[in-house]
Amino acid sequence: MKQPPILVDGASGYVGNKSAVFPLQLLGYDVDPINSVQFSNHTGYPTFKGQVLDGQQLLDIINGLEANNLLCYTHLLTGYIRSKSFLNKVLQVVEKLRSINPGLIYVCDPVLGDEGKLYVPPELVSVYCQKVVPVASMLTPNQFEAEKLTGSRINSEKDGLKACNFLHDAGPSKVVITSLHLDDKLLLIGSHQKSKGLSPEQFKIVIPKIPLNFTGTGDLLTALLLGWSNKFPDDLDKASELAVSSLQAVLHRTVSDYRNAGFNPESTNSLEIRLIQSQEDIRNPHVNF
Ligand code: ADP
Ligand code: MG
Ligand code: MG
Repeated sequence: MKQPPILVDGASGYVGNKSAVFPLQLLGYDVDPINSVQFSNHTGYPTFKGQVLDGQQLLDIINGLEANNLLCYTHLLTGYIRSKSFLNKVLQVVEKLRSINPGLIYVCDPVLGDEGKLYVPPELVSVYCQKVVPVASMLTPNQFEAEKLTGSRINSEKDGLKACNFLHDAGPSKVVITSLHLDDKLLLIGSHQKSKGLSPEQFKIVIPKIPLNFTGTGDLLTALLLGWSNKFPDDLDKASELAVSSLQAVLHRTVSDYRNAGFNPESTNSLEIRLIQSQEDIRNPHVNF
């Protein structure tokens, strides 16, 4: 029987676990989510209330699972982590899960920031570089994060592919740069190094840009990449096409749902993705990339 992936991530609004868990369940996975925060709404709103899980509380949950022999997971997925101490505890969790299942796949979305801005304390960057990237199986940075993790600017597709090579050398065999903004184009770049020392298989997907902002798209994409690449472990290209196809269908449905409900999507800062309404597109994506 397939063991469930476990997730450690923020909750609330359609970001974090709320963007990731339902799609994974739709793809047939049994998921044990751990909410690293429990907020009224995501932090893109003017105000929020709620609680933050500290590193010790995370370890308590892991210890409880271990005490019942329930700590056998095939996958670990992590997203937005806000503090160095919590990130260090997550590293302990990776180590513990691997001591039980050496084949554990750790899918790491190294959430650091976007569009030139960090949204975590700067000290986290070196922890990701030195300790997290080396133990990740798959890494899904956006352009800004790939630049931070490699220390080099990415101004072309070639730079993006070089960044993937750098990251493979540091650890993960699968790297997906989820968005590269080059001129007016939006590209996803994927790279799969099938054996250490071999040249990776690399590909790109050109994504038609919708001139609107959405929240939770990165979280959703990483979850879909985990889900599909587990079904097609030797074909990151195909897994990425499926993931991007679902995601684009979700975004188009989101825009039309806002319009149908009488809201002008252009007048909103950021749109909440319509996941529940898009279940068919997640289960059976119509591949058009
Ligand atoms: P992150 O939140 O991690 O920065 P990205 O910005 O890389 O995530 O977005 C993840 C994916 O979401 C992209 O690969 C793209 O497929 C999709 N996406 C997000 N915003 C848009 C948009 N405005 N138009 C088209 N696709 C988008
Ligand atoms: Mg982005
Ligand atoms: Mg991301």
